[in-house]
Amino acid sequence: MGIATINPTTGETLKTFTPISDGAIADKIALAHQTYRTYRLTSFEQRAQWLRNAATLLDDNQEQWGELMTLEMGKPLKGAIAEVAKCALVCRYYADHAAEFLANEPASTDAAQSYVAYQPLGIVLAVMPWNFPFWQVFRFAAPALMAGNVALLKHASNVPQCAVMIEAIFKQAGFPEGAFQTLLIGGDRVASVIADPRVMAATLTGSEAAGASLASASGNDIKKTVLELGGSDPFIVLESADLEAAATTAVTARMLNNGQSCIAAKRFIVQEAIADEFTERVTQKFMALKVGDPMHPDTDIGPLATPAIRDDLVKQVDACLRAGAVALVGGSVDAMPLDDSLRGGNFYPPTLLVDIPSGTPAEQEEFFGPVAMLFRVPDMNGAIALANDIPFGLGASAWTQVDSERDRLIRDLEAGAVFINSLVKSDPRLPFGGIKRSGYGRELGRYGIHEFVNIKTVWID
Ligand code: NAP
Repeated sequence: MGIATINPTTGETLKTFTPISDGAIADKIALAHQTYRTYRLTSFEQRAQWLRNAATLLDDNQEQWGELMTLEMGKPLKGAIAEVAKCALVCRYYADHAAEFLANEPASTDAAQSYVAYQPLGIVLAVMPWNFPFWQVFRFAAPALMAGNVALLKHASNVPQCAVMIEAIFKQAGFPEGAFQTLLIGGDRVASVIADPRVMAATLTGSEAAGASLASASGNDIKKTVLELGGSDPFIVLESADLEAAATTAVTARMLNNGQSCIAAKRFIVQEAIADEFTERVTQKFMALKVGDPMHPDTDIGPLATPAIRDDLVKQVDACLRAGAVALVGGSVDAMPLDDSLRGGNFYPPTLLVDIPSGTPAEQEEFFGPVAMLFRVPDMNGAIALANDIPFGLGASAWTQVDSERDRLIRDLEAGAVFINSLVKSDPRLPFGGIKRSGYGRELGRYGIHEFVNIKTVWID
């Protein structure tokens, strides 16, 4: 796929970009390296000031940059505006806390003095996805820049204008030229950037295939990586749950961002005793969702970001239906009333699959769109077993009002995060990341800023 803005609502190509040359990549790496030499010596106060400036710019331009995201990848505008606001939050969070997180840690040994110092590594490459085009970048960049690293961004090829805008934001905020640069290149050129000895580490948020490819290229050169990959998060509802709250949250948790979120609740796992009622409530709520132009304030579900994503989803749902699953809502592109003006877009209807036989993609694959799969289980043990029977381990949401059940769920669910009676969400104050094939390493919180630093042991006699 070329680097281009293609409006997912209409299919219209709005702007194309020529990938930068190998020479231009070399120039940008050289500039980043040169900047790093002095940037690493700047004070936390100075970096925090620049980051706070970035936060102010984000606050002042929420609508404009929200519209840019919606234009390039189709998320409903209100969600896009909220995403810009959240980026300002993460900037302020690390501006406020980085000095404390990275302060020397004294260690009691037989040295006259010994401590741990946290120092920057240098150039960090970030390979980012289109689904949260601003948030994914800012949650990496805020701690990386506060730690004294400099950043190169290889953004997804379908959000080039967001990528260019984010570089402009950091420049306008006052960061030195070269502290944050965008590389307009395809995924096939990432390995050559990693191979440059001045690039010290890399992070990727995206699919398993891309993560494996980045990790293997980095492994060849012994470089640290963080991987934030896909998931098929369980949303467990036990008999004691507040059913209305659970059903309402299940719909939000599945449909956020047109269903294209790594931590979306993709598998509803429901205790048999309340399954009929829960299913009925969710069915009604799915049917009430409005599919349409994501720029309209009353739209709940916009188009998927690219035709390929919709094609993949169609294949996965069709395989389930052929095997005998039932779509209580949606299930095919034709099951959706749409204005003629939107016929060229990548729309897919909210879909609820039940009675899914084993052996379908629903068991092992991530469905990246507005499709929920509902499974019935006899009890909590069955819920935990089914929740864990998947290659992923990103987040898990579980609903119960029984303390002993809550404690078992927290202990036994295989996931990087367990949220009880709440949807899974990211929060600058808490670490975020997965286990199993959902990746490794953490972003956000205190842990996030420690991923790309040299944890230096200091011994003085
Ligand atoms: P993707 O195809 O893997 O793309 C993500 C990024 O990786 C893009 O910048 C892409 O560039 C690049 N890329 C693709 N192939 C590559 C390769 N072989 N080597 C290096 N870079 C490569 O992922 P996606 O389909 O856009 O994003 C959706 C996936 O991301 C889902 O699985 C979702 O769950 C996951 N995700 C995870 C998190 C998390 O925090 N765990 C958050 C959001 C999304 P091009 O665009 O140029 O191909």
